[in-house]
Amino acid sequence: LAAIAAPYLDSLNPEQRRAVEHGVTADGHVGAPLLVIAGAGSGKTNTLAHRVAHLIVNNADPRRILLMTFSRRAAAEMARRVEHIARKVLGDNAGVMTDALSWAGTFHGIGARLLREYAEQIGIDPAFTIHDREDSADLMNLVRHELGLSKTERRFPTKGTCVAIYSRCVNAETSIEQVLGQFFPWCSGWSSELKQLFAAYVEAKQKQNVLDYDDLLLYWAQMMSDAAIADDVGSRFDHVLVDEYQDTNRLQSSILLALRPSGRGLTVVGDDAQSIYSFRAATVRNILEFPDQFKPRAEIVTLDRNYRSTQPILAAANGVIDLAKERFTKNLWTERPSSAKPRLVTVRDEADQARYIVERVLENRESGTLLKQQAVLFRTSSHSGPLEVELTRRNIPFVKFGGLKFLDAAHVKDMLALLRFIENPRDRVAGFRVLHLLPGVGPASAQRVLDHMAETSDPVGALCNLPSPPRAGTDWSAFVEAVANLRYSEWPADIERARLWYEPHLDRIHEDAETRRADLIQLEQIASGYPSRERFLTELTLDPPDATSDQAGVPLLDEDYLILSTIHSAKGQEWKSVYMLNVVDGCMPSDLGAGTSAELEEERRLLYVGMTRAKDDLHLVVPQRFFTHGQHAKGDRHVYAARTRFIPDRLLGLFERTTWPAFAASPAARNTGPRMDIGARMRGMWR
Ligand code: ATP
Ligand code: MG
Repeated sequence: LAAIAAPYLDSLNPEQRRAVEHGVTADGHVGAPLLVIAGAGSGKTNTLAHRVAHLIVNNADPRRILLMTFSRRAAAEMARRVEHIARKVLGDNAGVMTDALSWAGTFHGIGARLLREYAEQIGIDPAFTIHDREDSADLMNLVRHELGLSKTERRFPTKGTCVAIYSRCVNAETSIEQVLGQFFPWCSGWSSELKQLFAAYVEAKQKQNVLDYDDLLLYWAQMMSDAAIADDVGSRFDHVLVDEYQDTNRLQSSILLALRPSGRGLTVVGDDAQSIYSFRAATVRNILEFPDQFKPRAEIVTLDRNYRSTQPILAAANGVIDLAKERFTKNLWTERPSSAKPRLVTVRDEADQARYIVERVLENRESGTLLKQQAVLFRTSSHSGPLEVELTRRNIPFVKFGGLKFLDAAHVKDMLALLRFIENPRDRVAGFRVLHLLPGVGPASAQRVLDHMAETSDPVGALCNLPSPPRAGTDWSAFVEAVANLRYSEWPADIERARLWYEPHLDRIHEDAETRRADLIQLEQIASGYPSRERFLTELTLDPPDATSDQAGVPLLDEDYLILSTIHSAKGQEWKSVYMLNVVDGCMPSDLGAGTSAELEEERRLLYVGMTRAKDDLHLVVPQRFFTHGQHAKGDRHVYAARTRFIPDRLLGLFERTTWPAFAASPAARNTGPRMDIGARMRGMWR
């Protein structure tokens, strides 16, 4: 049965159309695997959305479509686009159909959901709680103390490093020796202690019924190694589609293979020139090896027309990526002419950088570009500090993607820990945090309480029967009562109860209890949007809300606001105007890496990803001086900076070069020769 022709196909170019229509017929036949590998802004995500809509229009059951994207925001955006496209054929039914796209999300989110569903079959408790990276580091630390590894003579790796090593081993499916040798050579001497630590860490997680981020993939992959379960999970879906496939790791590709061993109904899209997550063990080999994993081989579609950027922006981005060691196959072109080259702007320091950007942003807004259509991108979250100060001073609202300000606040974390402790009383990291709130309960008595709870099959019952620690008195009985009540109260009413219990502690611990109380009320509002405590905790942990300039830190939904984002969090997105901060050596490439050639190449791709976010207007800002924060234990200091090495002299013709504010001396004159750091010299006189 031939596929239903639909008007939305007319907007696509022939290659996009081939990808959308590949293997789609009106009788639900499921086609051979498909790979769309193409450059930035060539319409990969758009093509994927059209493909999902086209499947639905051709009678595919949306409840049997699994769609995995890089973030929850991207999944929601995709569902919105699918509805918009399908509406042209299905009219008002399109909304009902896209609402049924219930399996759209991130790998981690989908993993969490499936693991709860199959918990019994794989012998885990479905009420597990999820540790974010910081919780993981805290648990690693607890275990490290218990093993006495924190008191060794030579300095043992920090908790953060331990978690990073552990995570690498798990995600790349490689041995600890290999990971240490390649990425953490300074920890090589510790491999046997680390093995012991990781074994104890895994045991602790299992005893406490917690899963960390990596476990969501690891357990899922393990679960799929059981043929019967893999069959069962795989048979729930007719189509599996993945965006940004270049940034998946080995575990993720093995999950996909187990879901669709023949590749039928599998679509992946991505761009090898944009792979920027190798520090999380993502490997571009997944996308490059994809076609040969199946028989018959996957159909490959490449797209080379860029619809996003003007010609000069694309030319500059192409110029940068053409200097990469690796050869990427694409040669992007665009039909969006413009006379405006991207700007390479030299400024004195970060304060001027912030002022320059604020002026341009306001200028653009004056001429009709909303704040939301403008974004400031940076290599590392801390780089936006001076800009955030300037924006706040000038009353320009902004949202910072991937920033965790709100959830990071101590009082919000306390509340979340309490809710987590109620959800899963074996979660020791949460337990410690909550018990520490009680006056008179120190680390030793907290440990005794948690140990006692851990030994029984009814931890809350055990808690209720415990005598109060000597100096905790009425606070103890109030706590025990709150936990017992909350355990059985209804969501979302229990979050208000939890707050009422917590408030006296808030007043005691913090001077600014009033503003913090407002945050907790906001948290309640966010919580009431979720159907259950478990869903609230899971989704908040996996995909925390973005930080904003609003005091309460809650998303400013309807207002206009400027976007601040790390380049990593900006992938897949586009804005009319894009400003990139600190386009200097030391920031881009970052001097935090070991400086291997592979790392440098990844930094180059990162610059490329940033530049290709811009549609009409791109500014790369080069401060001549910037501030570093204790990197490499050198302490805070100003350093003199040079333009990133990824834009060597021979590419300068692709940019319009300016200085701001106009200096007395020409920038060329200022840029030559060694520069003096007079501050350092003055300080040195007294050493
Ligand atoms: P990235 O690599 O950054 O993820 P992408 O390849 O996924 O980019 P999209 O985000 O899908 O690209 O598309 C980029 C822009 O081009 C979007 O604004 C999209 O609407 C537009 N676009 C894509 N295809 C077409 C088309 N056939 N006609 C007009 N506009 C298109
Ligand atoms: Mg995309």
